[in-house]
Amino acid sequence: MPQYDHTCQKCKKDFVVEMRISEVGKKEVVCPECGSKEVTRNVTNRSFTSESINRYVWDK
Ligand SMILES: [Zn+2]
Repeated sequence: MPQYDHTCQKCKKDFVVEMRISEVGKKEVVCPECGSKEVTRNVTNRSFTSESINRYVWDK
């Protein structure tokens, strides 16, 4: 499943969401840390690694 980097605009937390391509733009992404919906999807490829990024999996 593709992974998408997201950044919460509220708590500035970076996290990764796995979802199907068909779900992108439909599925509401919520910050796993604070529950905010003010989340932006980063369309960069994963050329960087950050220890601050937690892996977060939907439908678990
Ligand atoms: Zn947040």
